Amino acid sequence: MIIAANLKTNLTRKETKKYINEVDAYITSCNSSQEVLVFPAMSSLDTYKSSVVVGAQNAYPTDNGAFTGEIGLTHLNEFDIKTILIGHSERRHILGETQEELVKKFNYFKELGFKIVYCVGEPLEKREAGKDVMMEYISTQYEGIDTQYENLIIAYEPVWAIGTGLTPTLDDIKDIHKELKDKSSAPLLYGGSVKVANAKEVLSIENVDGVLVGSAALCAEDFCKMIEFA
Ligand code: PEP
Repeated sequence: MIIAANLKTNLTRKETKKYINEVDAYITSCNSSQEVLVFPAMSSLDTYKSSVVVGAQNAYPTDNGAFTGEIGLTHLNEFDIKTILIGHSERRHILGETQEELVKKFNYFKELGFKIVYCVGEPLEKREAGKDVMMEYISTQYEGIDTQYENLIIAYEPVWAIGTGLTPTLDDIKDIHKELKDKSSAPLLYGGSVKVANAKEVLSIENVDGVLVGSAALCAEDFCKMIEFA
């Protein structure tokens, strides 16, 4: 099981430091070898602890250079960051990243051996159009992606479930995960309104290899409970 927290643009550096200290203290206290990933805001990439893998929510596929507002490999290297989140729906739909750009990013960090958490998931209108349309849409998000990459983790995150409190039924998650496992044998996380109240059930679904948690992971105590469930 892999338990991952996407802190987005939420906790500040000071808050993230406290947060990671709390998560680290919990993991250390139970002598757990649970794989825990935390994706903090860019300003907190240096707040690591040995029990927690800190990853970048984004980076530009370059060493460094004239790419205003972005960070590149040199910056990640300074903090020994070797994990990156690619294809999150907020980057696809709010920041307008195209599949072509994501593939470039994917290939760049793949060549460097990064652990890549690659997100896929459908918006509500695709889900409402029926399973075939939905799966066809999700398939487009696999285009150009090396699904056999050994350091790949896929996160299935229905866009309409992110931050909304809505989730697919457990049977729907089971069904979609089964189909996605046919596309790639990489560990497959579920993300979208996972919280303490539903994490245990979600983690028990066949082909769910962990969870990627946004809002509910902002509270270290809750995130630790999900680690405990795993
Ligand atoms: C996410 O943004 O990756 C996410 C899963 O968010 P939330 O848990 O808030 O739905």
